[in-house]
Parts: sequence; C-alpha cells; structure tokens
Amino acid sequence: QSKNAGRNQLRFFDPEMQTALELRTSLEGQLHEGLRHGQLLLYYQPQVDETGRVLGAEALLRWHHPQRGLLTPDVFIHLAETSGLILDLGAWVLETACAQLAHWPAHKQVPATSIAINISARQFLDPRFVERVQTALQRYAVDPHRLKLELTESLLLQDVEETITKMAALRALGLRFALDDFGTGYSSLAYLKRLPLDELKIDRSFVADVTTDVNDAAIVRAILALAPKLGLSVIAEGVETEAQHRFLIEHGCRAFQGYLFGKPAPATAAGKSWAGTGLP
Ligand code: C2E
Ligand code: MG
Ligand code: MG
Ligand code: MG
Repeated sequence: QSKNAGRNQLRFFDPEMQTALELRTSLEGQLHEGLRHGQLLLYYQPQVDETGRVLGAEALLRWHHPQRGLLTPDVFIHLAETSGLILDLGAWVLETACAQLAHWPAHKQVPATSIAINISARQFLDPRFVERVQTALQRYAVDPHRLKLELTESLLLQDVEETITKMAALRALGLRFALDDFGTGYSSLAYLKRLPLDELKIDRSFVADVTTDVNDAAIVRAILALAPKLGLSVIAEGVETEAQHRFLIEHGCRAFQGYLFGKPAPATAAGKSWAGTGLP
C-alpha cells in the first residue's frame, strides 16, 4: 500500500506500522522493552525458622516502570503469560536468582541458605526448561540444593505425567520443590502423594484469619498434621502478627514468611538486614 502511495502520503494508517506502534505503547510492548533495558528486578523476602534464623528467601519480581513507578507482578505477570513473554522473563529471573546465590555464599552454619523462585505453567512446560535451569546453575557454579522452585496446583494439573517426569529430572539435579498457595487449588491428596514435592506453602489467605476463623484454623491444623505423614515440610506465607506466628508454632509449623519477619526488599538492603542471620 505505502509503495504505491505518493511521496507526501501520510503513512499513519499503514496497518503494519500501526500494529508495531500499538505494541510499543501497550503495556506488553513496554514490558518487552523493560526487560531489554534493565527495568526488571528481584526483591527478596526472608524465610525464617522458629528461632527467627533466615533459611533463605523468596525472589519476587518487580518492574521499575519509567512512568508508573515500581509495579508488582499482579499488574504484569498475567500479561507476560498470555503473550509468551514469560519465557524470556522467567529465564531472566532464573539467571538473576542464580547470580544472587553465587553472591550470597552459603554460610557454614546455615548450609540450606536458598532462594525460591516462582515458576509459571508456560515456563515449566517449555521443552527447554530443564536445560535452562541446568545452564543457569552451572554458569554461576551454584549448588542446585540452594534453588527451590515454587509451583502452583494449577500448573501441576496441566499435564500430570509430563510434570512428574520433569520434576524428577530436576530433582535428580538436586533442586527442591514447594507447592505454592497450598489449599486454594483442587488437587487431591492421592495425587499430591505422587508428586516429588519437598514443601507445602500454606496460602496466606488461611494464615490471615487463622486466629479468628475456626474454619481457617482447622484447615491450617490439618495441613500441618498431614504434611509430615507425606514426608513434606511446611512453610506458612503471609505471617503478619505475633498471634498468627504463635498459633502456627503451637501446631507444628517450623518455617515462616511474612511481613512480621521482613518485607520483600532489593538484594542489597535484604542482605544487610539479614546480616548475622544466615545471609551475608
Ligand atoms: P506468591 O508466590 O504467593 O508470593 C507471595 C506474595 O505475598 C508476594 O506478593 C509477597 O510480597 C506477598 N506477601 C509476603 N508476605 C506478606 C504478608 O505478610 N502480608 C501480605 N499481605 N502479603 C505478603 P507479590 O510480590 O506481589 O507477588 C505476587 C505473586 O506474583 C506471587 O505470589 C507469585 O505468584 C507471582 N510472582 C512473583 N514473582 C514472580 C516471578 O518471578 N515469576 C512468576 N512466574 N511469578 C511471580
Ligand atoms: Mg511464591
Ligand atoms: Mg504463595
Ligand atoms: Mg499467592
């Protein structure tokens, strides 16, 4: 169309250009650019044991948007998943977390110092996923035991056989797995037993009202009673108050994450505030 157009013809309505322009100005296009231009960063939130000692941290993605400021994943993760950008984004998270692990040497007193990263279904089901994990670990010479992958029930239910095979391969490398947002999904206990998981992460919606809602309290107690029988450890997420912490300890919980112990923070600030607690 534009070839035959006269010299002075305005080209604004060239459909190809229009699409390119729209992409660049849309949030999706901006995310693409943001990834290329170093606008993404990882925040780290401590995971502690019952004495408050830091066991490791969860890496949480942030986007420093040039106009809109610091954005949390609820604004852009879904977009990244539907557009396919999650593959590049996820690879970046993996690389960055491994680089950070290499920078935070495991303390002799705390050999388990680890980083947990969140994995999207699309990323996990990508045929290159296992290889990408392996490459990132090797590049930074990181002990695979120090990397934990947080998966969700909806991810695990997508293709059970494929998932089990892939988890087994990663586990053979030494990686560990946590089931994130546990209790909010639909997986049966029989099915849970088949998965090579290490840890259940109690969803923060149950923790929030654990001291005031008898149903939430019952659910949390049931998870804490069941997990050890399946050979799984438990971590509670979203712990904000001393009362929640006490309830959880009383019922056998031994790992915690939440604002009570520390908010997600950039690596440098996080490392400093945990000095002497496991992470240098
Ligand atoms: P999640 O994995 O369940 O992460 C826990 C969320 O709870 C985080 O929100 C964290 O900031 C928040 N949180 C932690 N402690 C407390 C607390 O005491 N009180 C309250 N109210 N909230 C607390 P965030 O950082 O906004 O992340 C939201 C979700 O985005 C994550 O939920 C995870 O599903 C997803 N996400 C984060 N980073 C990544 C990533 O690198 N890749 C992928 N695929 N998803 C990610
Ligand atoms: Mg998580
Ligand atoms: Mg969670
Ligand atoms: Mg959640």
